[in-house]
Amino acid sequence: MPISPDALPVSMVLIRLPILPLGDPRLREKSIPVPDPADPSVRAIAHRLIGAFRAFRKQYGFSQGIAAPQIGIPARIMVIDPGPGPIVLVNPEVLWVSDQTVCSWESCMCFPALAVMVRRSAAIRVAYRTLDGSDAVLASDSPEHAAVIQHELDHLDGVLLLDRAVDTRSIISREAYARDPDMFNRMCSGQEFSRPAHNP
Ligand SMILES: [Zn+2]
Repeated sequence: MPISPDALPVSMVLIRLPILPLGDPRLREKSIPVPDPADPSVRAIAHRLIGAFRAFRKQYGFSQGIAAPQIGIPARIMVIDPGPGPIVLVNPEVLWVSDQTVCSWESCMCFPALAVMVRRSAAIRVAYRTLDGSDAVLASDSPEHAAVIQHELDHLDGVLLLDRAVDTRSIISREAYARDPDMFNRMCSGQEFSRPAHNP
């Protein structure tokens, strides 16, 4: 369920929690399902995630999602923020992904200096539990949002963006990308869709 940003105490927004850096073994663990999504501790974790996410985005200017393992919590909880406000997904399960794939450049909060070219499904449907414990489904036909969802789902299984790189030349610095985004976006040419390296 979406959490209104206004509903969060200011302290939650200002707390800057460390995002685990690439190489921390906890990023490679498979996270465990949450036994009771409606437990208050799950809501507390969700708020910590949103706080860390906002602090990161304020500092680095990008990110559209975060997963609990990124702050060292091995639980299947993730947050995506496609625009209108954060959506917390507990115990997400993929129901369907499109056969059509798209190529794009992504970044990750765990190694924010890098941009990585990946190919992902263009659309996805995910079942999950809300913080109230209800069943819900999130469907995205937007390749950009679908990529964010797939990126965060990977974190829950200990899979990182680097593992998805199209090839070794598909790992570059964000600085180089920013100097000539058109050139790097042309590397995605021939694909159905491309977008700048803004997410997740
Ligand atoms: Zn990431």
